[in-house]
Amino acid sequence: MKSEEKEIKLRKFIIILAIAAMCLVMATILNECARDLDSLAHKPTSSPTDEPINTATPEASPTPNPTETATEEPTPTPTPTPTPTPTFVPDGEYSQNEKYFGKKVIVLTFDDGPHRIITDRLLDGLKERGVKATFFVTAIGRTNSDWESDKRILNRMIEEGHEIGNHTQEHKRLTEISDEEIREQLGIVHERVKEMTGYDIKIFRPPGGDDNEAVREVANMPSIKWSVDTRDWEHLNETALMKYAEENDMTYEEARQDRIQYILDALMRRIYDTEISYNSIKHGSILLFHDLYDATVDLVLALVDELMESDEYVFLTVSEAIESEGIVPVSGHVYDTIWPRQSV
Ligand SMILES: [Zn+2]
Repeated sequence: MKSEEKEIKLRKFIIILAIAAMCLVMATILNECARDLDSLAHKPTSSPTDEPINTATPEASPTPNPTETATEEPTPTPTPTPTPTPTFVPDGEYSQNEKYFGKKVIVLTFDDGPHRIITDRLLDGLKERGVKATFFVTAIGRTNSDWESDKRILNRMIEEGHEIGNHTQEHKRLTEISDEEIREQLGIVHERVKEMTGYDIKIFRPPGGDDNEAVREVANMPSIKWSVDTRDWEHLNETALMKYAEENDMTYEEARQDRIQYILDALMRRIYDTEISYNSIKHGSILLFHDLYDATVDLVLALVDELMESDEYVFLTVSEAIESEGIVPVSGHVYDTIWPRQSV
């Protein structure tokens, strides 16, 4: 009897042991499964699109890459010789220039003005913020009263540290007219601005951004284009705003605010692009606006205010910006950013 009892006890013990072992195995399997599920569940949230700020604004590296050092190194003697013609677009995230070191240089450009009311309001806003911009002007001094208002505004631009560029007198497509006409179109603007202010225009922007090597040779100035088209011309002109208000059952003012915010949001997304592209707002970007639309003024000032919050940006005229990279702007070269385009 005793040995029988012992055997039963032993069997019970073995069964318990077996159950315990099975439990352990099952627990391990469940744990593995849970971990797999967990990693699956976390996959989408770790996608880079949700963390734009970290990826878009890497820390300023204290050691600039070798290509940057090459352009940044200040030459002891001023060399009037052309350029080192850099044939690359440096991907430096920040200016290496002593004066703007660690900042992102942004160029604001305004086409098709000056407008006697809108440009003035814009200049007020820029002055308040200590921001420099570039104005590609057209249709200078057509009538006596235009002459007076253009003269006043152009002089104000110069006094307040902005740059003036040539946008042709009649906003003509330069690829579609003769060399003679190109000279005339640019010549009228150049001479009138010179007469009104004493200022010598040194850069041009072809209307529509449309030029070619032959046009640039005749123009004999650096051709300044843009990397970011804000599309204010499309969304902020009065006709478009009225249409938008009507379609969306809004007042004009509501439509105006809506569209300004729409562009501003789109521009802010370009600052935080996870993959920095050509159209991103980054160090060296040239932004295209038009000082023809009242809503553009609100858009620009709102954008500047947003950018200035981080104390990371500096707004320079296009020539200042190009020169801040140790580059001399050269006639015939195209600048979509503050570096010459690789192939023109
Ligand atoms: Zn234009």
